[in-house]
Amino acid sequence: MMKYVMVLPDGAADEPLPQLDGRTPLQVAAIPHMDWVSLHGRLGRAVTVPAGFTAGTDVATLSLFGYEPAKYYTGRAPLEAAAQGLSAGPDELIFRCNFVTVLDGLMKDFTAGHIAQAEADRLIADLNECFAGERLAFHAGVSYRNLMFAGGARDMDLICTPPHDIPSEPVAEYWPRGAGAERIKSIMERSAEMLSEHEVNRARQEEGRDPVTQIWLWGQGRPTKLEPFAARFGCSGAVITGVDLIRGIAVCMGMELIEVPGATGYIDTNYQGKGQAAVRALDQFDLVVVHVEAPDEAAHLGDAAEKIKALERVDEFVVGPLLEAVRRSERWRILVAPDHPTPVSTRAHSAVPPPFCYAGTGIEAVEKQPFCESAAEASSLFLDPGHTLIERFMRGA
Ligand SMILES: [Zn+2]
Repeated sequence: MMKYVMVLPDGAADEPLPQLDGRTPLQVAAIPHMDWVSLHGRLGRAVTVPAGFTAGTDVATLSLFGYEPAKYYTGRAPLEAAAQGLSAGPDELIFRCNFVTVLDGLMKDFTAGHIAQAEADRLIADLNECFAGERLAFHAGVSYRNLMFAGGARDMDLICTPPHDIPSEPVAEYWPRGAGAERIKSIMERSAEMLSEHEVNRARQEEGRDPVTQIWLWGQGRPTKLEPFAARFGCSGAVITGVDLIRGIAVCMGMELIEVPGATGYIDTNYQGKGQAAVRALDQFDLVVVHVEAPDEAAHLGDAAEKIKALERVDEFVVGPLLEAVRRSERWRILVAPDHPTPVSTRAHSAVPPPFCYAGTGIEAVEKQPFCESAAEASSLFLDPGHTLIERFMRGA
C-alpha cells in the first residue's frame, strides 16, 4: 500500500513584489523541503477556481481533493455546518452569519473586532429568542463565524455578498438579491434593531470599542454530498487543520479529523504540533493531509515578511518531518499544493492558477526547478480543470 502526504499551504502563491526586488514570497522564503519535492518530481499549475466561481478556499480546496466545483459546490456555510456535525432539512438553507460592525452605512469590520466568544455566544442565544417561531436557528461557531439555518426556504435563490469583500463600502449596495431576498434582508435589519440597545454594546462602548451593529448573512447553500474519498481511491485518510471550512470538507469526504492543540487557523498556529501529529498519523492512515491557513492570513494583512516566515515554518515543521517520515515507507508520494494565490499587494484571493509539486514512487523528475510560481508557469504541466490533479497524484505519473 502506498503512503500519501498532502500539504496545503493556504494562499501561499503570490505575485512578484517590489519590496522583494520583484520576487515572490515563495521565491524569497527558504523552503528546502518544498524545493526538494519540486526538484525530484513534477511541477505545474492547476485551475483550482473554475471560471464563474469566486476565488474562495472552499471552491479551490474541493478542486484539490478532486471534487469538481460545478458538481459539488453548494456554498460555504453547508461545509462549515458539516464541521459542527449539523445537517439541514430539505426545506432549509444554511447561511454564514457574521457579526459585523457597520458605521455610517459602511462595512467597517467584517469580524466585529474579532468578537469575544462570550459576547458571540450571548448574542446567538438572544438572536434565537428574538426570532423564535420564525423557523430560524442560529448556531454559535468561533468568534464572528456563526451559522443560521432558515426553514421554509425551499424556493430561495439568492445572491449574497461576503462581508470581507466589501471593506469600507456602503452596505446598502450589497443587500441580498433574488428570490427570498426581502426575508433575509429584514432579518439583518431586525438584528440591527436588537443590537442597537444591547447590553453587550453598552459594555463595548464603555471600553471604547466599536459596537457589534448587526449580523451579515452570506455563503448560503444546501448540504452537499461528496462521494467518500476512500471509495474513490481505496485509501484511508486524515486531515489536520485549524479552520472549520476544511474540517467540514474532511467530514463530507469521510476522512478522519485530527485535532492539534494550538492549531489556530492564524499566523500564530502550532506548526510543530501539526507536523508531529501528521507524522504520527502516517502510521495509521494511508493519506495524511495538513492544511495551514497562516500564509493566507499573512497575505490578508498585507505583510510580506510574515508570509515568508509562515512559508518557512510550514517547510521546516510540516513538509520537512513529513517528507522524512513518508520516505521510510516502501511506496510513498507527497504533494504540496496551495489552494489559490493570495497576493500581498491586493490582500485578497486570486483565481490565477496556483503552482503545485509532487514527488515519490513512480514519479520521474521532469521540470527540475525549485518550487515557485514562475517555474511552474514555465512547465508544460497545466491542469485545466484542476480537479484532475488528485487522480494524477494518487494513481498517475
Ligand atoms: Zn484559501
